[in-house]
Amino acid sequence: MKTTNNLLFSLIGILSMISLSGCKNQFVSDVNNTIQPVPFTSVKVTDDLWAPRIKRNHEVTIPIAFGQSEKTGRIRNFKIAGGLEEGKFQSNYPFDDSDVFKIIEGASYSLQTFPDPGLEAYLDTLIYYIGLAQEDDGYIYTYRTIMGDDSHPWIGAKRWEKTHILSHELYNIGHMYEAAVAHHQATSKRTFLDIAIKSADLVNRDFGWGKIESYPGHQEIEIGLVKLYRVTGNPKYLDLAKFFLDVRGGGEEYNQAHKQVTEQTIAVGHAVRAAYMYTGMADVATLTNDSGYVNAIDKIWQDVVYKKLYLTGGIGATGGNEGFGEPYNLPNMSAYCETCASIANVFWNYRMFLLHGSSKYYDVLEKTLYNGLLSGVSLTGDRFFYPNPLESSGQHKRQEWFGCACCPSNLCRFIPSVPGYVYAKTRNRLYVNLYMDNTAKIELDGKTIEVTQQTKYPWNGKVEMTITPDLPLNFTLCLRVPGWSQNEAVPGDLYHYLNNNENEIILKINGKAKEYSPDKGYLIISRKWKKGDIVELDMPMPVRKVIAHKNVEADRDKIAIQKGPIVFCAEGIDQKDNHVLNLVYDPETNLESEYRSELLNGVQIIIGEAKSTKRTVDGGVIMENNQPLTLIPYPVWANRGSCEMMVWLPTTKEVSRPLPAPPIVVSQKPGKITGSLN
Ligand SMILES: [Zn+2]
Repeated sequence: MKTTNNLLFSLIGILSMISLSGCKNQFVSDVNNTIQPVPFTSVKVTDDLWAPRIKRNHEVTIPIAFGQSEKTGRIRNFKIAGGLEEGKFQSNYPFDDSDVFKIIEGASYSLQTFPDPGLEAYLDTLIYYIGLAQEDDGYIYTYRTIMGDDSHPWIGAKRWEKTHILSHELYNIGHMYEAAVAHHQATSKRTFLDIAIKSADLVNRDFGWGKIESYPGHQEIEIGLVKLYRVTGNPKYLDLAKFFLDVRGGGEEYNQAHKQVTEQTIAVGHAVRAAYMYTGMADVATLTNDSGYVNAIDKIWQDVVYKKLYLTGGIGATGGNEGFGEPYNLPNMSAYCETCASIANVFWNYRMFLLHGSSKYYDVLEKTLYNGLLSGVSLTGDRFFYPNPLESSGQHKRQEWFGCACCPSNLCRFIPSVPGYVYAKTRNRLYVNLYMDNTAKIELDGKTIEVTQQTKYPWNGKVEMTITPDLPLNFTLCLRVPGWSQNEAVPGDLYHYLNNNENEIILKINGKAKEYSPDKGYLIISRKWKKGDIVELDMPMPVRKVIAHKNVEADRDKIAIQKGPIVFCAEGIDQKDNHVLNLVYDPETNLESEYRSELLNGVQIIIGEAKSTKRTVDGGVIMENNQPLTLIPYPVWANRGSCEMMVWLPTTKEVSRPLPAPPIVVSQKPGKITGSLN
C-alpha cells in the first residue's frame, strides 16, 4: 500500500450491479436481446462457501468498517462539514469520504439479505450527516468544506481545479452515486438518492463540452453515473459518463489519460483506475453500441488476459505505480494484485459478458472471484490484504485496517453482491453463469421461474438444477461450461494445463436426450420447460497442473496446481518443517485431492510429494528425499498465522507447453454430441 505523499493514491471504487430495471430510452437498441442482470435480491445462496462469507460480512466486516470510520474521524468529517461539530478535517486523505459511501453501499446490499432495523436507522443517521455536509448547490467534498480552498496540495485553489490530478472530488461522489442507488433499491427511500441527484446535476452544470473539459484523476464517477442513469432513466447522466471518458487524452499513462479512450489498446498505469475505466467503457459500449468503445475495450481485454493477468485473476503486477507492468512481467513475491483491482476486474469482466454474452469473460471473473479477490479478507472477516502476492517468505500478514482503507470498504460492498453474479437473462434466455447452492426466483418474459441448484462446487463439478416455471414455458437455458473444464486453465495463451483431460462433460435433462448446440461457451437448451424439470451437469474436475507462457520469467520451469476454478498453494504450516520455499516438485508425481471439513472452515486440499533442497556453502543445491506435500486453496492462505507460501512450485525438470487440446466432448446420454464450446 502507498502511504507516501508523492505517490498517487490508489483508491478504489466498485459497484455491483443490482437491478438494472427498465432500460427505456433511446440508447438501448434492442432491449429484448440485451443481456440483463438477475439482481442478487432474486437469488438466495445457501452453500457452504459464499453464504457464510456473506453472513460474516454482515456481522463482522461491516460493523468493523463503520467502527473504523467513526474512530478515524471519517464520519465526523461529515458532521463538521455540516456544521454539527467544530474541528479540522479528521482523517488522512481528501478521498476518505469515499470509504463511508462504500460501506453504506455494502450495508444497503446486506440489509436485503439480513433485515436489520438498527443498521437501517444507522444509515439514516449517516445520510442525514451527508445531507448536511452537502453545500447548497450540491457540492460535496468534506475536505474543502472544512479546510477551505488550497488547504491541501491536492485540492487546488478552487473547486474542480485539480480534479484531473489528485483531488478525488469526482471519485468520491462517484462512490456516493453507487451507494445512493443501492440504498434506494434496498429501502425504497429517496433520501440518499436525492442527495446524489443534486450532486450529479451540479457536476452536469459545471462539466461538459464547452464547460469545464476535464477528466477525473481517479476514474469511478463513470460507473456511478451509469447507475444513476439506470435508476432514474435520465439520459443526461449517461451522456455525462461518456463525456468523462471521451474527454480523456493529453495526460499521463498513470491514470490512462495519455490517449483518447477509443485510441487505447493496451492496459497501462494504475490498475484500479484502469479497470474502473474499462468497466465504465463497457457500460457505455453496452448502452450506446458505440463501436469505437467496443473495439478499444476488446483490445485492452486481450492485452490483459494474454499478457498481464496472474493465475489468481489478480491484476497490477508492480507496487511502484500500483499498476500494470510490462507484458509477461508477473513476479510472484512482489506481486501487487491489490484487492480492489481484483474487485474491479470482476466488475469489468461482468460487463464484458453483458456486452458480448460470451462465457470467457466469466472464466476470468470466476478465477478472480475465487482466488485473488477472496484472499483479500480473512475467514474471520476482520483482517484484510491490500496486495495479494503469490509467494511469501512469511512477511505478509492480513491487517486490521489501513490508513488508505479502499480495500476493506470495497470488500464490504462486494461480498453481499455475489449472488447477483450467478444468473443473467434476456427476454427468453436464462444464463447460468456460476454454480453454487441457491434458490432463485427469476422473471422471464413476465413469467416467474424458480431455479434451484444443488452442488458441491467449487470442490466438485456436479450440478443438479431444478427448473420450475409457474406454467409450462418455452425458453432457452444457457449453461456455462467453464474453460477450466475444457482444457483451458484461463482464456488466452498465458497459462496452459500440462496435460489434457479427456473425460467427458455429461449433461442430462430428465434423463432424456435432447438436441442443443454449444455457443460462446454455453450449452444452449431450448425447450418447453415444465415444473420440476431436472438438469444434471457433470464436469469432471481432476487436479490439473498449470504452466505459464515461456515469456513469464517468474514462472519458468514451475508448475501451479488448479482444480476447477481454485488455484492451490503450499503453505509452511502444512509441511513437515514449516518451509515451502525450498521445495521442488517432480511434474510427474501424482496428486490427490481430499475434502477436510475441519480445516479452514471446510476446504479441499491436494496431497502429493515434493523434494526439499539445501544450499551448499559453494552455492550448489542438494536435493533431499521425498517428503509429503500438502496444498491448500490460495484464497484461504494466511489464516493460521504468517508463514512461507508458494503458488508456483519449482520443478525438478523442464516443463513446456503441451500439444493443443482436442475439442471437448459433451455427451448427453444416451446420445453424444461433439463440438467446440468456444
Ligand atoms: Zn484497495
